Amino acid sequence: MNDRPVLLCAATTGYQVRAFGDVARRLGVPLAFATDRCDQLEDPWWDQAVPIRFHAPDESADAVVSAMGGRLPRGVLAVGDPPVGIAARVADRLGLPWHPPAAADASRIKLAFREALAAAGLPHPWFTALAAGADLRAQARTLRYPCVVKPLSRSGSQGVMRVDSAEAFESAVARIRRLLALPDVRRPHDERGDVLLAEAFIPGREYAIEGLMTAGTLEVLAIFDKPDPLDGPFFEETIYVTPCEMEEDVQARLGEAVAAAARALGLRHGAIHAECRVSGGVPYVIEVAARPIGGLCARALRFGDGRPLEELLLRHALGEDVSTWTREAAASGVMMIPIPRRGVLKGVAGVEAARAVPYVRDVAITAGIDQVLVPLPEGRSYLGFIFARAAAAPAVVEALRAAHARLSFLIDREVPVVSHAS
Ligand code: ADP
Repeated sequence: MNDRPVLLCAATTGYQVRAFGDVARRLGVPLAFATDRCDQLEDPWWDQAVPIRFHAPDESADAVVSAMGGRLPRGVLAVGDPPVGIAARVADRLGLPWHPPAAADASRIKLAFREALAAAGLPHPWFTALAAGADLRAQARTLRYPCVVKPLSRSGSQGVMRVDSAEAFESAVARIRRLLALPDVRRPHDERGDVLLAEAFIPGREYAIEGLMTAGTLEVLAIFDKPDPLDGPFFEETIYVTPCEMEEDVQARLGEAVAAAARALGLRHGAIHAECRVSGGVPYVIEVAARPIGGLCARALRFGDGRPLEELLLRHALGEDVSTWTREAAASGVMMIPIPRRGVLKGVAGVEAARAVPYVRDVAITAGIDQVLVPLPEGRSYLGFIFARAAAAPAVVEALRAAHARLSFLIDREVPVVSHAS
């Protein structure tokens, strides 16, 4: 038996990590784990976890390789955006197929991605970097509106804002900079942390593409339609449903656009997750991440007779041919339950009623009671997730909306902390 593990690099210890753990146990494949959360691990499964620091990818990769000793990994997986640079470096040092380090790094920096698309002659919005300390008023006059302003390397639409006028531009930039300066958001090691990106707002319907690259070739695993309009000013994800009801030739063009964008970045091997818009018939790739769809949303994808995405990815990391795997026949969707307003979560009602809606498979409330809820653009989490499966996508969307309508959230105003001078 081959006891060499597969290395899982992760920024969380949540659902997706457990899902990989379950699949690995079932397949009898040892997993090695590298994370920045070693102090938070409870599961004895992860006793051997190697601590990594995302702002020090080279040192972290060296630490992982030396911690593995003679049991070098057979393959590499990454969960979440922050670890992709480390996963890529470990793979590179060990000669394992994965996304190259430069491509994995570039996938996390929105300006680098735009530059890669432009250099490759692929469709992209106009874009410009906004350096800290530049004259905002002068900059505002040179831009066209509507545009989108965003931080260079955040995820989950955090800090992403649509701006419709020069006046609104200045306050949006100030708001994003305030967000990036918050103690729990600031990244002291990020030299370009205060550079922002402004780019054209691309109107049109949005899709998410889940893909798997093997030696440079992209296989599209699923195209998710996002039926709720995403027109801003903030870009809150809600419903993802697959299959999408787009004509076959547009689907094919979307897949080709993502493959071309991934190539332009230099991505080669492993999971990718892309966000795209189709505008005037042209597919624009907004982002390609060098990792699978995040967290609980992965549960919306099952293959063959119901195998999870994590099994497909683990087998791929082991070098198995998974090119014949296809998504299950049913339509499937997930709703990320948005945070309606800032406050403290005090209660959730209607969960059983929501679960009872036909085609709904599960309702998972992930926000905790007494948790401070922060909506976009400052926040980046959800109240929870609703899952549905049905014969066709419209029934899935209807079920998700009906279930959401049955939920109610009691959110109290935050009580400001008052300090008393003695
Ligand atoms: P993140 O990595 O934080 O998710 P993205 O750059 O992918 O940031 O943007 C998040 C969302 O904001 C996108 O899914 C899209 O809905 C919207 N968005 C971002 N850039 C644009 C753009 N140029 N035009 C239209 N919508 C955009």
